[in-house]
Amino acid sequence: MPSGSGTNPREMQAADPADIELLRGTARKIFADDLSLEVLGDAGLLALLTPESLGGAGWRPLEACVVAEEAGRTLSGVPWASNLLAAAALSGDLRWRDTAESLMAGQATASVANRDQLDVDDRTGGVSGKVAVSGSREPDFLVFIGSGREPVVVDCRAERVTFDPSQSFDTTRVGSTAVLREAVAHAVGGADGSLLEDAAVLMACADSLGALSFAASLVQEHLVDRVAFERPLASFQVIQHRLANLSILEAAGDALIGRAAGLLTVAAESRGQLLSATHSYFRRHVPAAIDDCIQLAGGIGFTWEFPLHHAMRRSLANSYAMRSPRTPVTQVFVAPQFDDTRAEADQFRAHARRVIGEHAPFQMREGHRAPTTPEEEFSLRTWYRVLYENGLIGASWPADRGGDPDHNPLHELVVKEELIRARAPRPIDQVQLASHVIISFGDDAQKTRYLPRIRKAEDIWCQLFSEPDCGSDLAGIKARAELRSDGRWALSGQKTWTTDGHWAQMGLALLRTSTEGRRHEGLTAFLVPMDSAGLELRPKLTIGGAYEFNDVFLDGIVLEPEQVIGGVGNGWVVAMSGLEVERFGVGGDVLLLELLIADLVRVAGSIDVDRSPILDRLDVRQEIATLESEASAARAFVADHVDRALRNIERPADASIAKALYSETYHAIARYGAELVAEHSPVPDTAASEAQRLVDAWLWSRALTISGGTSEIMRNIIAKRRLRLPQ
Ligand SMILES: Cc1cc2nc3c(=O)[nH]c(=O)nc-3n(C[C@H](O)[C@H](O)[C@H](O)COP(=O)(O)OP(=O)(O)OC[C@H]3O[C@@H](n4cnc5c(N)ncnc54)[C@H](O)[C@@H]3O)c2cc1C
Repeated sequence: MPSGSGTNPREMQAADPADIELLRGTARKIFADDLSLEVLGDAGLLALLTPESLGGAGWRPLEACVVAEEAGRTLSGVPWASNLLAAAALSGDLRWRDTAESLMAGQATASVANRDQLDVDDRTGGVSGKVAVSGSREPDFLVFIGSGREPVVVDCRAERVTFDPSQSFDTTRVGSTAVLREAVAHAVGGADGSLLEDAAVLMACADSLGALSFAASLVQEHLVDRVAFERPLASFQVIQHRLANLSILEAAGDALIGRAAGLLTVAAESRGQLLSATHSYFRRHVPAAIDDCIQLAGGIGFTWEFPLHHAMRRSLANSYAMRSPRTPVTQVFVAPQFDDTRAEADQFRAHARRVIGEHAPFQMREGHRAPTTPEEEFSLRTWYRVLYENGLIGASWPADRGGDPDHNPLHELVVKEELIRARAPRPIDQVQLASHVIISFGDDAQKTRYLPRIRKAEDIWCQLFSEPDCGSDLAGIKARAELRSDGRWALSGQKTWTTDGHWAQMGLALLRTSTEGRRHEGLTAFLVPMDSAGLELRPKLTIGGAYEFNDVFLDGIVLEPEQVIGGVGNGWVVAMSGLEVERFGVGGDVLLLELLIADLVRVAGSIDVDRSPILDRLDVRQEIATLESEASAARAFVADHVDRALRNIERPADASIAKALYSETYHAIARYGAELVAEHSPVPDTAASEAQRLVDAWLWSRALTISGGTSEIMRNIIAKRRLRLPQ
């Protein structure tokens, strides 16, 4: 915010969601009706960055971004953003306060450009040259902000400034070229030009988000209505996945803007990094995504009247509105940030950190999680027991089964983060899934028999769901459990990809008990001892060269009736509830992205070519900056998703978006790491462990995009539940 205002940004209250929606509605209506600057001024929308003490509405970057998004959504040509920024730049200087007021009222117009576009003669304050003007043909004032310098203003009415009409690249806004001939540029005091520049960049991103949202809905409506090959075009999966990609981009962009706007209200060191990441993310993705909308629309997309190309031009112009594209490369490489800001969890975090620090048996290698020696197995089981005993896992269980009656769900997230930070072995997902199923569906005898053994790590559980012929389509399970005349069950068939099966004591199996009715109605869940007679296990080597999962053959296994869990024919419900057990999905895991980026930086900093580290090469820096911005987007969305999960206000398919963003970004970062290692092998000893981690992560990354629902299945879910596309 402009300095000297008397308003402390740290004291600002978080925006009330209801107020934000009200503001959004007001802005949408004004822009849709193409009303004038004065109307925007009357509604207070030009005063959102000017302190209250100076007649404004306070420093409200989030609100300014909401209005910008609506301007973009309606492709409005009203030059409101320049007035907003110029008023904020001028209001802190007494000499320009009246001007600021008329800008806030919409009675004067301004155009804003980057300060580095102007060469001011320091002695005379004179400027000559040409400046592109966007939004008005002949603005009253030209205001230059940013580049770490104080803002300057040129009063076009008093100075020698002429305007040449010019064809604007952005067809949604009028434009001209201002020609300055020894005009006087006045330095303006009382404003933080860099902060204003950041706000301007973010508002340009928000405007692009609106344009993207407009383009995506327009093309979606078109494809839902348009029938070809006797189906709505939007029912074709290839189209659905591309619409889902637009939805993922919108969600990530929205989260980035929300997070970055939050940082503009506090004096956060990481502001520059997140701003650069946001700007880079929007520049790279949004114009290209709208471009894809044109392809999706077919011939009509190629017409001047169908407005997609206007949205594309606008988003491309926004990408270069205030900042040169090279900026992110120079601003990257800040150390990884850990989110320690949730005060209520601080005490618990300290406890978790202490337990992990004292007991973690070794550092975990991604993709090498199962023990390979009896000693490793012993220390892993001891470790899991310690985690239960200290309330780091199992705290959400009922109190009479060892849980904590005062359990705070946020603590689950803290534990994940701390385990990842310490690179300590993480609890086994399949064990968490089994305990959730037993707690939710087990009878008293089953709970008493199995839960204590899980807490003592006597029983490791595995998940016997997938089969050679069925993974994504789980309802296609063929392995059978047949009811014998003595009331017991006989099992036959094959399961595969069974993680940890080779050292597990128990398996949660999904088996077909009936072929009648709908496919998923004939499934039943069973609790299967892994040492049952008739169970044969063949470990399979993963692509990372580890024994992590297995083929499991079921041949003549006999189970007692009490091995059924959740009721016969209810297996689908049991399995689905188990798969959704993870409350925050990849909430804590997202920290891994930062650790991977840190490893990349370390490796690139250690490899010398021609006596200088490759980290100094522009292509390497650019690639890492790009990956860093992808990681920021994933992290921002996942953080928003966690916030919504905590407040029980999740949106449809949020979890699928979080998984896709996280797993695909993880893969992209790790793959680049593997490329560097392959190109520069052997990596110097100083970065050998980081290089090994990157290669491990690269190979492991496909586990994340395949297991627990593939990336394609995530897009199917987004298409169906979030976009409600015809099936
Ligand atoms: C590391 C790892 C650990 C695993 N651990 C376990 C475990 O412990 N227990 C267990 O039961 N399973 C486990 N799995 C199996 C996992 O759940 C399946 O691999 C996953 O569900 C995908 O099934 P599939 O391998 O049969 O692939 P398929 O379903 O055959 O898919 C092949 C390709 O087709 C695509 N595809 C499939 N259906 C659709 C569709 N409708 N629309 C568009 N594209 C589609 C997929 O995205 C994929 O690209 C594990 C897998 C891995 C990689």
